[in-house]
Amino acid sequence: MSHSEPGTKLAHCDVDFTQRTEYHQGLEAIRAAHKVLAEVSFTPSLPERGYNDRTLHVDFSTLAVTEKPVTQQMKDIFVGGRGFGLWHLWNAVTPATRWNDAENEIIISPGPVAGMTQYAGTGKSLVVTLSPQTDIPVDSNVGGYFGPLLKFSGFDALELQGKADRDVILFIDGTKGIIRIEEAPLEPVDSHVLAEILTRMYAENDADRVNISVVSTGAGADHSLIGMLNFSWWDLRRGCIRLKQAGRGGIGTVFRDKRIRALVCRGPQVKGNLNHPADPETIARTGIKFHKEMHDNDDSQCKMRRNGTAHIVEIMDAYDLLPTHNFQYGSHPETHRIASPVWEARCTQATVDGCWYGCSMACAKGADGVVLKTGPYKGHMVTVDGPEYENAAGLGSNGGIFDPDYLLELNFYCDTYGICTITWGTLCAFVMECYQRGILNLERTGGLDLTWGNAEADLEMMHQMARGEGFGRIAGQGVHKMKAIFAERGWGDPGLLGDIGMECKGLEYSQYMSKESLAQQGGYALTNKGPQHDEAWLIFMDMVNKQLPTFEDKAEALYYFPLFRTWFGLNGFCKLPWNDVVPSDNATTAEPAKVPEHVQNYVDLFTATTGLKIDKDELIRQSAKVYNFQRVFNIRMGKGLRSFDIPPYRSVGPVTREEYESRAERYDKQMLEEIGVAPAGKSVEEKLAITRAYRMKRYESLVDAVYLRRGWTPEGVPTLARLQDLGLDVFPEVVEIVRAHGG
Ligand code: SF4
Repeated sequence: MSHSEPGTKLAHCDVDFTQRTEYHQGLEAIRAAHKVLAEVSFTPSLPERGYNDRTLHVDFSTLAVTEKPVTQQMKDIFVGGRGFGLWHLWNAVTPATRWNDAENEIIISPGPVAGMTQYAGTGKSLVVTLSPQTDIPVDSNVGGYFGPLLKFSGFDALELQGKADRDVILFIDGTKGIIRIEEAPLEPVDSHVLAEILTRMYAENDADRVNISVVSTGAGADHSLIGMLNFSWWDLRRGCIRLKQAGRGGIGTVFRDKRIRALVCRGPQVKGNLNHPADPETIARTGIKFHKEMHDNDDSQCKMRRNGTAHIVEIMDAYDLLPTHNFQYGSHPETHRIASPVWEARCTQATVDGCWYGCSMACAKGADGVVLKTGPYKGHMVTVDGPEYENAAGLGSNGGIFDPDYLLELNFYCDTYGICTITWGTLCAFVMECYQRGILNLERTGGLDLTWGNAEADLEMMHQMARGEGFGRIAGQGVHKMKAIFAERGWGDPGLLGDIGMECKGLEYSQYMSKESLAQQGGYALTNKGPQHDEAWLIFMDMVNKQLPTFEDKAEALYYFPLFRTWFGLNGFCKLPWNDVVPSDNATTAEPAKVPEHVQNYVDLFTATTGLKIDKDELIRQSAKVYNFQRVFNIRMGKGLRSFDIPPYRSVGPVTREEYESRAERYDKQMLEEIGVAPAGKSVEEKLAITRAYRMKRYESLVDAVYLRRGWTPEGVPTLARLQDLGLDVFPEVVEIVRAHGG
């Protein structure tokens, strides 16, 4: 297929899809094949002080579309976003529900502040479901326009339940008040094409594309447990769709299990006052103040506008924190090949890359004009959304891949196939280490030579997974299930597999080395959903700046920061503008790690939107209600106790002889000064054992301190007193669960 052939061109993917058989007969034919299975009308509305007070519920088994009220109790206890998602999920499932049961739901909720256009990072949606990887609730914070457009159509949350008997699209027209479930037999599968086609199909004219957002996934979600969701927006300057990902925990897999091909929302034209906030002046003033900070400080601080989050690749490497070869090491001589100057040159700079209106941080960078070398889109010229830091580290250094072209290609295929880049990076690193150690070989991988740095084998494994074939299909089960499969087949020592398989609760680690930060070891393993840095990122406070010297200091940080960060997900905020640029005088404040001026901004923005007066303590209390509720939810699903908060040893210390020897000076010094044992004359094996015993004991002491600070029992159960303090004792089943577990 030549790129110069006539027809309708997709800018995101330079493909003449009207001519390609795999895209069927083109847009008109795709549209003509749609059959309306259900249609209901509703009264569109705009939020009042951030809320519409309505949830939309869709049952794909019965094709029933209904509205439910958002109660005052929901707002008081759960606020919105992740809180609403967890509450709806709690009511939808039982302890016996599994991810692929019809009653499991996917809930999308943007939060009361979401949709604001005056401050940076205010267009996020929270997606909640029972995860196929962990069997407990997973929550994912995602940009793109869908959540705000849903809200400006009239709904604070969307519940997707049941299973369709064929592939369907849910279309919500928030301008005409129509909701349709349509059979969609001819749609292409992968997100970069599907979202573009549907945006063009449902927009009433070219100018209307900006009012359309599509939620979709790709072929990878059909054949794996690690599927994710892409949320689109129309990039006016590029003239194509862009994608942001709700990545973690396999939400895309649940989406496809329900036979949902896509969600499409068409909202009203966005303006600055659609939330009908209580105090627009305060919002405008706070926004202007922040935009000036971005303008003045970004270039000298994080350069988010030029590099996005990829700016930290070389910083992580310099501090020995960049995961390399499956988290064995923290730096690599070739890191410069995937460092920020490379991405600054590869990403288009003559544009503004915000994933929602008004985001002056604009970190959603994109590399244009990338010609693919492999897979079903080989030869196509595409725009790659990213790479972000997690992509560069996970798809790059962690697998020993330092070729930026291949890294972009891996990033692209993860996105369009609808699989989580963080998860893929960590599971690839795991299988590559298994290959290094002879646990896997050519015969066991069906011919895939998974040596470190072999990007072509990595890509082939991904294409296999998307086709549902070969070893790729096994890889798509994730690290937790692979460990069991390998052990069952007698392919490796289960103890070693447990040590090097970087997952906790069934979810793969995100891309930071935590060996030298006890606080971050807890920050990962003590999370509700599994090890993801969006809950706590304490490495610099702990390891670099030495601000958390005692167990109590670390426990306080592991009390405050997970709650503070939870709050972003209740409201529809992006975390990045909180601390990726800070006021010039932030270092002189009493608690610079908290960025006090920005905390006050968030307090002001919440109050100015909802009219509810809160302060910084009430902000934490709002989160604590949802956080503790989620912990009880985990216990209800059989996975919330202390034994599930234990990390793989690779995240705590050196597992192998090579790891110890690579940092022998550091470990020997620690043995002498911290453990009080002289390393001289000891074998590496003896030193590994002494280090391990010390570090695991230290980790257990940390868990004791954190549970105490959080108001949990030594088994990790929120106490009844804690529930009463937070007002969660109004839910009898919550009380019953903690009582049954000694809370
Ligand atoms: S900071 Fe980046 S991820 Fe966050 S809202 Fe802005 S563009 Fe999106």
